[in-house]
Amino acid sequence: MKTIAEPQHILKEVFGYDDFRHNQKEIITHVLAGKDSVVLMPTGGGKSLCYQVPALCFDGVTIVVSPLIALMKDQVDALKASGVKAAFLNSSQNSSEQAIIFDQLKNSELKLLYVAPERLLGNETQFIQYLKLVNVSLFAIDEAHCISQWGHDFRPEYLVLGQLKEAFPTTPLIALTATADALTKNDIIEKLHFKTYEVFENSFNRPNIYYYVKPKSNYYNELVGYLREHKDDSGIIYCLSRAGTERLATDLKEDGFNAEAYHAGLERNLREERQDKFLKDDVKIIVATIAFGMGINKSNVRFVVHVDLPKNIEGYYQETGRAGRDGLHSEAVLFYGAGDVMKLKRFAEVEGNEAQTKIMLQKLDKMSKLCETKHCRRKYLLNYFGESAPDYCGSCDVCLTKPVLSDATVIAQKILSTVARVKESFGMRYIVDVLKGSNNEKMRAEHKGLSVFGIGKDTSKEEWMHYIKELLHYEYLQQSSGEYPVLKLTEKAKPVLFKGEKVYLSAPVQIVIAKEPVIYQQHPYEKELFDQLKQLRNKTAHEENVPAYIIFSDSTLMDLATYLPLSYGDLPKISGFGAFKIEKYGQQFLELIQDYCNEHNLSTQVHLKQPKREKKQGTSPIKERPSDTKRVTYELYQQGKTVDEIAEERNSSPWTIETHLCYYISKGALQLSALVSDYKQSLIKKAIELHGSNTLKTVKESLPPEISYGDIRMVIASLNAVAG
Ligand code: ADP
Ligand code: ZN
Repeated sequence: MKTIAEPQHILKEVFGYDDFRHNQKEIITHVLAGKDSVVLMPTGGGKSLCYQVPALCFDGVTIVVSPLIALMKDQVDALKASGVKAAFLNSSQNSSEQAIIFDQLKNSELKLLYVAPERLLGNETQFIQYLKLVNVSLFAIDEAHCISQWGHDFRPEYLVLGQLKEAFPTTPLIALTATADALTKNDIIEKLHFKTYEVFENSFNRPNIYYYVKPKSNYYNELVGYLREHKDDSGIIYCLSRAGTERLATDLKEDGFNAEAYHAGLERNLREERQDKFLKDDVKIIVATIAFGMGINKSNVRFVVHVDLPKNIEGYYQETGRAGRDGLHSEAVLFYGAGDVMKLKRFAEVEGNEAQTKIMLQKLDKMSKLCETKHCRRKYLLNYFGESAPDYCGSCDVCLTKPVLSDATVIAQKILSTVARVKESFGMRYIVDVLKGSNNEKMRAEHKGLSVFGIGKDTSKEEWMHYIKELLHYEYLQQSSGEYPVLKLTEKAKPVLFKGEKVYLSAPVQIVIAKEPVIYQQHPYEKELFDQLKQLRNKTAHEENVPAYIIFSDSTLMDLATYLPLSYGDLPKISGFGAFKIEKYGQQFLELIQDYCNEHNLSTQVHLKQPKREKKQGTSPIKERPSDTKRVTYELYQQGKTVDEIAEERNSSPWTIETHLCYYISKGALQLSALVSDYKQSLIKKAIELHGSNTLKTVKESLPPEISYGDIRMVIASLNAVAG
């Protein structure tokens, strides 16, 4: 197998990305070594690059087997928009169109060719003979679960792919799917006759999708309210019945929304037209049965709403998974009513097949349990797919509304004994000062000698305040009335202090990081410019007659609106701007940004965006937008001040100051090692590996007490910088 380019180079030059995601790099290395692989990655994870990059590294053509015509066209359009020679062959083309492609194949003019499975082998064996004459470097089988009867989408025509290994024994094969279960995975391996191969699995978690379940009674008003709040966004609303989609679409249109119905009962032309409009953002909301979505690659679907209960979790997860492929914040909202369960139970009856009926009912039961659970919905979903997950995700309705109580005995003991040592005569702030070992003028000399003095140095003031309020709430403490309320112990406090009785409290709300898994949301961007960029993109897309996201994804536009590149030289730093797109679209997008910056008196922020490998200590002068308070913190820090000092000076909390510093760390403008020692870093990174970064509290509790929340947040920010 001859390679003619380096993967990293292709990633940057063609696709405009700096870093591989998940295990893309490993997978690509494996493929380039000529070996077979099975790739399990959730929707939006980035499966396509796993074969598209090798396709461009290899000398020869990569054949991609894909089940859906719509998907093929979309992928080919996207590749062409990046200057890649790609084509597809399927039944939608006439013979002269097909002849052109055969010519291109023969003349080695194609790097990727998408085909339907029946086209590849099936009855038309000439095609495979033909392929033997050209230089095929790789076979990629997309949606590989279609080969398995165990999957939810079995396609008999996929079975012919079993012949590929025999026909091309030395050509590597890569099978990709977003279906996770072991049965399907093993079936893929068996049916494709893989012998030496590797399986690459990824977590199925979709951290940028927030999950919400709402009561169904009177849902229409709530839905309308929700849609009003999301009036600029694209979304899909799923209904159970065709009539239901028509009714809801009509109602929504009457209420002024840009919505259309979609179901298998509509005429083909109409279906295609509506789908096309949705892809091009001319229709914002599609109200559909589950017939809609397969093969929809639209990356900027911001919300998926289910107004009726899905039949099983597999379907629900697949449908909600259509949101947020671009990695930006997205939402899945389900309206749940017990009536739906009764209705679906009747549908689950499979006449004369008791075993099947039983399975359907079990699946339905799991689905309604998801809606009724009092625990984290993300955890429930991931557990369902055989993956473990922390108790708290911070981004589902349960986690967001119900604080999780956890063991805070040690924290409570520190607070309660401090209250006791100062003879129950001081207020909250003073207690915190004692815990933090503060040297301010209010601190009494006799208290500086207490064993509790400074016992909580590494915990922020805000956190201590939070826990004191929790202890008040759960009545371990009470506050005297009057102008200067002081804290007093209650009866409940004694067993905690003297018998080590356990105390359970909620964590501080700072799990904010988990709530905002997507780095873009943490940074200021120019909203108005973002909207203008969207308009320009849509106009360009219309001119070229392709869906808007094929020109640029929302995250690329977000990058532009955040970093404000003003010259050609800045553009390669923007994610998603490959060489071809810079050449083709660079000028018009630059002009728009230049005009905007002139008008608003803004300077470029592109120095904050440095590719990972070149990141260095940011001593460069940083010019923030005028409104930005972060900049003040940054400057004070550069003057050598500590977090606490800056907090004091700015009359702000250390927590907030740390948030500002995290921002600059995530931008690569501040070096982590200046803030967190290497030793602490290594401990924190290990803990994050073990527990994930979504539950700050779990990470914190697994670490020695001298490691503060601030330390952990900064490490996470630096990891985001690397991943970003
Ligand atoms: P999947 O096929 O797994 O559903 P895609 O291949 O369509 O996912 O990728 C989803 C999105 O993520 C696409 O917009 C793609 O361009 C983007 N993407 C993939 N890999 C990377 C990467 N390494 N860096 C940045 N964006 C990426
Ligand atoms: Zn949760």
